Amino acid sequence: MLRIAIQAKGRLNEESIELLAEAGVSAEESKRKLLTRCNDFPMEVLYLRDDDIPQAVSMGVADIGIVGLNEVEEKEFDVEIAHKLGFGKCRLSLAVPKTEEYVDVNYFNGKRIATSYPVILSRFFKEKGITAEIHEIAGSVEIAPSVGMADAIFDIVSSGSTLVTNGLKEVEKVLFSEAVMIANKSLSDEKKKILDQLLFRIEAVERSRGMKYVLLNLPHEKIDEAIRILPGMKSPTILPLAQEGWSSIHVVINERELWDKIEQLKAIGAEDILVLSLEKMIL
Ligand code: ATP
Ligand code: MG
Repeated sequence: MLRIAIQAKGRLNEESIELLAEAGVSAEESKRKLLTRCNDFPMEVLYLRDDDIPQAVSMGVADIGIVGLNEVEEKEFDVEIAHKLGFGKCRLSLAVPKTEEYVDVNYFNGKRIATSYPVILSRFFKEKGITAEIHEIAGSVEIAPSVGMADAIFDIVSSGSTLVTNGLKEVEKVLFSEAVMIANKSLSDEKKKILDQLLFRIEAVERSRGMKYVLLNLPHEKIDEAIRILPGMKSPTILPLAQEGWSSIHVVINERELWDKIEQLKAIGAEDILVLSLEKMIL
């Protein structure tokens, strides 16, 4: 049995549950309970505040957890980063009132900076040789300059629209974050095996993202040309059609190249093109 900690509510909750569901692990039924057992996988889900997840995993209260890299770096608990998950992307940045003239990081010498991430910020300032006053506040960091609590802020930015609304501009990007799977450093062999099984499934889900399964019909003599249009993939599956002289080609194509490839295939005589979404790719 493996115990995973995920955010009880907030920005990472839904996508964590969705990812587990795509990996065949149902974790959603009770958001009100703190701990639930999955029916279809040897795993329990513990719902926590995201701030508490790194500690829970380092102590072994949970074996693994899904949390933002920003929380892992801030809390400094000794955990292993088992996998980057690609959602919950954001960055931790320094921002100053937009009317300020900003040349470089020395601007911050002697300034007061409001943040909920004092550890990451002091580490950054230490590296840069900056001496500043760091004010730790729990929330609404972005209004601190306008109410006179601070000269600048260090906070989470994703689109940057909150900064603009509050008359601020982003001047230093300090940490790029995304949701990560963290693991306790001394898992038993049995637990490691379950984690590997889970990661194997997650990787299959990730691989299929943005991929489409394409079926099309083509005259036999155009097959070589079609294979040239579809480079970099293992050879496509080619099946004979009942109609004399025609074949059906099945191939996996990245969504980014889809229309381009389809137009080229049409130009050489492809017909009856079907594009299906792919759920999992197991290699
Ligand atoms: P909790 O109640 O669990 O403590 P919280 O309010 O601290 O939740 P959320 O706002 O739900 O946290 O954000 C969780 C994580 O989502 C952040 O730590 C960060 O890793 C990620 N994230 C991604 N984009 C953003 C964003 N635009 N603003 C805030 N967090 C973001
Ligand atoms: Mg939190």
